[in-house]
Amino acid sequence: MGRYVMALDQGTTSSRAILFDRAGTIVAVDQHEFPQHFPQPGWVEHDPIELWESQLRAARGALRAAGATGRDIAAIGITNQRETALVWDRSSGQPVHRAIVWQSRQTAPICEALRARGLEQEVRARTGLVIDAYFSGTKIRFILDAVEGLQQRAERGELAFGTVDSWLIHRLTRGRVHATEYSNASRTLLYNIHTRAWDELLLEALRIPRAMLPEVRDTSGCFGVADAEWFGAEIPIAGVAGDQQAALFGQRCAEPGKAKNTYGTGCFLLMNTGSEAPVSRTGLVTTIAWGIGGRVDYALEGSVFVAGAAVQWLRDGLGLLERAGDSEAAARSVEDTGGVYLVPAFVGLGAPYWDERARGTIVGITRGTTRAHLIRATLESIAYQTRDIVECVQRDASLTLDTLRVDGGACRNDFLMQFQADVLGVPVERPAVLEVTALGAAGLAGLGAGFWREMSEIGAAAGERTVFEPDLCAERRESLYAGWKRAVERSRGWAGA
Ligand code: ADP
Repeated sequence: MGRYVMALDQGTTSSRAILFDRAGTIVAVDQHEFPQHFPQPGWVEHDPIELWESQLRAARGALRAAGATGRDIAAIGITNQRETALVWDRSSGQPVHRAIVWQSRQTAPICEALRARGLEQEVRARTGLVIDAYFSGTKIRFILDAVEGLQQRAERGELAFGTVDSWLIHRLTRGRVHATEYSNASRTLLYNIHTRAWDELLLEALRIPRAMLPEVRDTSGCFGVADAEWFGAEIPIAGVAGDQQAALFGQRCAEPGKAKNTYGTGCFLLMNTGSEAPVSRTGLVTTIAWGIGGRVDYALEGSVFVAGAAVQWLRDGLGLLERAGDSEAAARSVEDTGGVYLVPAFVGLGAPYWDERARGTIVGITRGTTRAHLIRATLESIAYQTRDIVECVQRDASLTLDTLRVDGGACRNDFLMQFQADVLGVPVERPAVLEVTALGAAGLAGLGAGFWREMSEIGAAAGERTVFEPDLCAERRESLYAGWKRAVERSRGWAGA
């Protein structure tokens, strides 16, 4: 058996490949960006061939960097940008349209029509999701409408739909396998997460022929073998998961109540809810975390739209920072924000406020307010927004968070992590290896192929964690948070009033 597991991390702006050895140590990484296509304002598309070729280049690059060949790879794991939708011709393997990316808003009118038909409750009950252009289903409808004759071809069984995982499996196996797995299926708006089947009512509502859909398999297990043409030897594809679920797995949040938060452009917080699939009363989504050995685990998911992006705005919009990382020293240079709160509602507010008309607001400014206060208030806003989501998740799941595990670019900021622990009143744990998404995919694949028996064997990555213990009395914590809530009220309903 090979020495390494290869994780393919197909993201929104780049394709990466990472080799892990048996200890879970990263041996080699390669990464290639690919073009973004913006056919109209608010639309985002990818060329499926560019996705595949950049991914193949990254995989071969990582092998080269490690001085390895296909024979050294025990298994391939795939993790991918979620919800992005592709349709291709089954016999030629050629895409019939560009991939419509998760961020793209081009199917908003299709969503509006579904809402007008009163389907919101049914969609939530069956899929755990809300009707939104973000999810894949309406993107398939868009593609079938975009080119004359596609609907008929789909009905004749000539076309295949897939999220990015299915597309990579299709290419790697040279068209032999058309499959996905639970975590990706649960983001399509077409999959019933309780009965674990493609849902007839939703397929009918969107007129999507069942013949287009991939088979849904376990997250960890057999997805076929990558053809020897690609890496010089056949390699089993043995684990697949959407990026956020892979990160949840890579963070070892395998028990109910365990949660991770990824601090990037926005934040993605997922809490494992075990075999329960709670229906959210706060507007979060319920999703499948993974299915392993026939058992499915669920998660509640909440996101913050603007997190690290607010730091980017300080840097690029206001010119207050040279680098995002400089925000830490600036924040520490003052004792507190001097009563200033910044609400980065640049694109409205999500859970639990759901206010599209909210806009960015700075309150509490006095003659003494400085650049450092604004920077500190911006970092603190990321932590307050995360607490908002944590409160929703705890309420919906009837579970209490004991620790928050963190990853993503902005979690390198020690000030932010300490403040996060302070404002939550629970410890924040940061792993030494921040590549938890790729580690999760590698773990799922390594377990699926028998390379590892349990996640605990992947020792190196479990290694040193930095723990930020809360260091604020409850009274101060709650009074700071109450101030945030008041600031949020000031930001609401501003646009279009
Ligand atoms: P994404 O995957 O969403 O592109 P990353 O995980 O790469 O994001 O994180 C980048 C984001 O984190 C940027 O928005 C950047 O402003 C922010 N960021 C990066 N480093 C820091 C830091 N040390 N302190 C605060 N914010 C940071």
